[in-house]
Amino acid sequence: MTDLLIHDAIVVTMDRENRVLENGSVRVSDGTVSSVEPTDPADRDATASRVIDADGKVVMPGLVDAHRHTDFTLVQGLFSELAGDELLTEALSLYHTAESALGESFFEAGWRLACLRQLTHGVTTVNAMDFTPAIGAEAIGDAGLRGVIGPELADLLDPAPADEQIADARRFIETYHGSHGGRVTASIAPGGEAGCSRELWEGVADLRAAYPDLRLHTHLYDSAAADTMAAGSGASDPLDLLDRYDLLDERTLLTHLLHADRDDAGRIAESGAHVLHCPTVYSYFRSGGRSWFPLPSLSEFGANVVIGLDDPFWFDSWDLIQEAKHARLLSNYEYGSQQWSSYDLLEAITVDAARALGLDDRIGSLEPGKRADLIVVDVDTPRHRPFSNLPSVLVNTVTAGDVETVVVDGRVLMADRSVESMDVESVRAAATRERERLESRTGWETSLAGSTPPDESILRRVSSRALLRAARQYGRGALARWVR
Ligand SMILES: [Zn+2]
Repeated sequence: MTDLLIHDAIVVTMDRENRVLENGSVRVSDGTVSSVEPTDPADRDATASRVIDADGKVVMPGLVDAHRHTDFTLVQGLFSELAGDELLTEALSLYHTAESALGESFFEAGWRLACLRQLTHGVTTVNAMDFTPAIGAEAIGDAGLRGVIGPELADLLDPAPADEQIADARRFIETYHGSHGGRVTASIAPGGEAGCSRELWEGVADLRAAYPDLRLHTHLYDSAAADTMAAGSGASDPLDLLDRYDLLDERTLLTHLLHADRDDAGRIAESGAHVLHCPTVYSYFRSGGRSWFPLPSLSEFGANVVIGLDDPFWFDSWDLIQEAKHARLLSNYEYGSQQWSSYDLLEAITVDAARALGLDDRIGSLEPGKRADLIVVDVDTPRHRPFSNLPSVLVNTVTAGDVETVVVDGRVLMADRSVESMDVESVRAAATRERERLESRTGWETSLAGSTPPDESILRRVSSRALLRAARQYGRGALARWVR
């Protein structure tokens, strides 16, 4: 029995043969893709619980955001016009007080809004690192989405001691790994070389030994001081630090690598670790000297490089397709043209990202036997047609606004741009209510013209100059780790 049949689509399978069907049908039974074949005229009259006529539109795997933080979704719009240094100051100040001033309802409303945005942007799977992982697991699960969630661990920058953080992470893994029908899984997520003591790294190594199937998800080399910080833990550099705790292998996800060099790229590729690249945040808020991740060397050595949004609420875009476009623009600007092909970029936000997360046996491509995570993209408009190079259209012309239908695990979550798995009005109402609380309790003022920080910054009021100095030193990646 077919539960879902999509016919007359351009099917971009992203399978091993890179098959594209000009006029194809996808059948789904029990949440699994049962066939991907050329459309038979009989498909148009076939019976299935749900039939989607995708004539002239693209059906492709759901998008995979390989690196994201979510807790502070509701600060969106506050930082958009700030310089990099100002962002550090204001975000640190706000984050430092948010939990006590705003409480759990603020983060709950933020996660729900993030899920709604993720869904309507065609992102079916997210790899998240957050301080409110349990709220996140429930939100992702309830929305019908797929997510890998890691409780962010960083004892040098967070008042909770290392053993407490490790115990919390263990509880999260035991409770949520494999929950919501297997759509929600856990990762082990130390913040990076900047924020973790030796004791915490030892705890992380123990967690990994106890849960060998989980991904290790961390930031690395996001600051020029990365080697110095690794030296503080007795290692010669950040990769050596991971090596010492047996944490560098094909189950490891390394985010940013802005200050890594060719030698590091070779070591990463040899280890089989995956690279998570987030181009927008570092170009939008650049401060100080320019340094970009070593893409040519990573490509030369054959490392798997995939793409994530990082902090989409800092720069007001949740569009992973645009993020892929930025990856190409910034890499080509830095290293010369042809750093990525259009098809490379599609792989980086679908099948290669699924491989990085260890989910490629279930998702990332449209093939019989895989779970049915897919999107329908409307390219049948004068904005797109006529075209010849479909991968180029999908990463250069298409935006997330062209995604009209989203399916996860065979369930239709959005059809013709109408969300079916979430109560959109209640998500909006809660987000609006919590934004008003944010303003009344922190002194931020917002209007259609922009946002104004409080006259007297909270940071100055609590005399946390040392925190600010450290945030500047450690870079923006360390910011979120100050709050718990
Ligand atoms: Zn990050």
